[in-house]
Order: sequence, then structure tokens, then C-alpha cells
Amino acid sequence: MADCIFCKILKGEIAAQKVYEDEKSVAILDINPVAPGHALVMPRGHFETFSDLPPDVLSALSQAAQAVARGVMKATGSPGFNPLMNNHRCSGQAIAHAHYHVIPRKPDDGVKYNWPAKAYPQPGDSEKVAGEIRKALGK
Ligand code: AMP
Ligand code: ZN
Repeated sequence: MADCIFCKILKGEIAAQKVYEDEKSVAILDINPVAPGHALVMPRGHFETFSDLPPDVLSALSQAAQAVARGVMKATGSPGFNPLMNNHRCSGQAIAHAHYHVIPRKPDDGVKYNWPAKAYPQPGDSEKVAGEIRKALGK
């Protein structure tokens, strides 16, 4: 897609630190990392979000993210990592080309990955939402 930063990186029009590539996926270092080694794993094709990925692209992307996570952990000496994907602006997605973040983690690294959690307000609310999701999924 013409205006997409990641498509431009994939075409070589914008420079990036490439750390992985295969037939369907490419990984680069995030230009503003949460921690050194923070990588972005993206499909070669332009798809906006996780839910837009065709099965073969999703499968390849997830396998690429796993391979990259192993490499990032080994290279940075991090015993853990967070794989995450922001989808749509309301979740924090700034670049509309689906990508996994692979964020290396260390004990007491101060990275805030947690969010405020709250209980369902009323008894029965979780059953209601679960039912709505099952219905949406046709289950
Ligand atoms: P998101 O908010 O999930 O869409 O994440 C977009 C990420 O892309 C951010 O963490 C940015 O730091 C990163 N980013 C933006 N421009 C570039 C670039 N030219 N090269 C590498 N990473 C970038
Ligand atoms: Zn794109």
C-alpha cells in the first residue's frame, strides 16, 4: 500500500534493521524499542489487522514470530518476552500493517505491560458476554 511505512520498508524504500525474513514474513528492529532487541514481525503483504490475515499468512507470521522470539531471547539474554499485536487505533495501533511486537523481558526491567483489570459489575455479566461471543462465533 502506497502510504504504508512498513510496505515502504519491505520494498527497501525506507531503511530498517532487518533481523529475519522468509517467503511470507519479515522482522525488523523497532526504531523506538521498549527494550533493546524489540522486534516487529510483519507479513510481506499489506493486511491491516490480525483479523484480516488469511490463514496461510497468519500461520507463517506466527511461526516467524516464534523464531524471532527465540533469536531475540538468545541474543539479548532475556529469559522472557511479550508477543503482542495492537489492532485498530483504539488499541494503540499506529501503523495499519499487521505486526507482532516481540519485546524481550528481564526480571525487574520496569516495563509496564500490565493494565488495570476490574471485576464484571453485575453477577451474570460474564455469562451474558460469553453467550454473546459464542453467538457471534456461531458456537
Ligand atoms: P503499533 O503502535 O503497534 O502500530 O507499532 C508501531 C511501531 O512501529 C512502534 O513501536 C514504532 O516505534 C515502530 N516504528 C515506526 N516507524 C518505524 C520505522 N521506520 N522503523 C522501525 N520501526 C518503526
Ligand atoms: Zn503495508
